[in-house]
Amino acid sequence: MTTLQEHIDALDRMVEQGTSVSKLRSQIAFIGREVAALEADYSSLGQAHAKLQGAEPQAEDECIHDGIIFKRGKRTGGVWAPFCHCGRPALIDDNDMVACSAGCPWICNVSRAELAQILKTL
Ligand SMILES: [Zn+2]
Repeated sequence: MTTLQEHIDALDRMVEQGTSVSKLRSQIAFIGREVAALEADYSSLGQAHAKLQGAEPQAEDECIHDGIIFKRGKRTGGVWAPFCHCGRPALIDDNDMVACSAGCPWICNVSRAELAQILKTL
């Protein structure tokens, strides 16, 4: 499959070789159609992505315990898992405390042992 960059490189070579204006216009029109097709694909994928993101929260159970958001659904394998308030999964950090996996400044002061106890109650 020829990439858009290869079509643009071909246009460059055509200009350097003194290709006729009509052939240059034809190549530019071809590139324009390729760009339009890519824009249509991008738009369609963007809409599909937004639709999936909108549907995802409804597919998960959610509860809050000791300031931690717990979710259970397809992406957690059907088990309760802790999440940061920024939306990223929480993990146990080097100090054995629950923390954001993305490193945001959220602090919940819940230890690994306390987390295990909370998970038993859910
Ligand atoms: Zn976070």
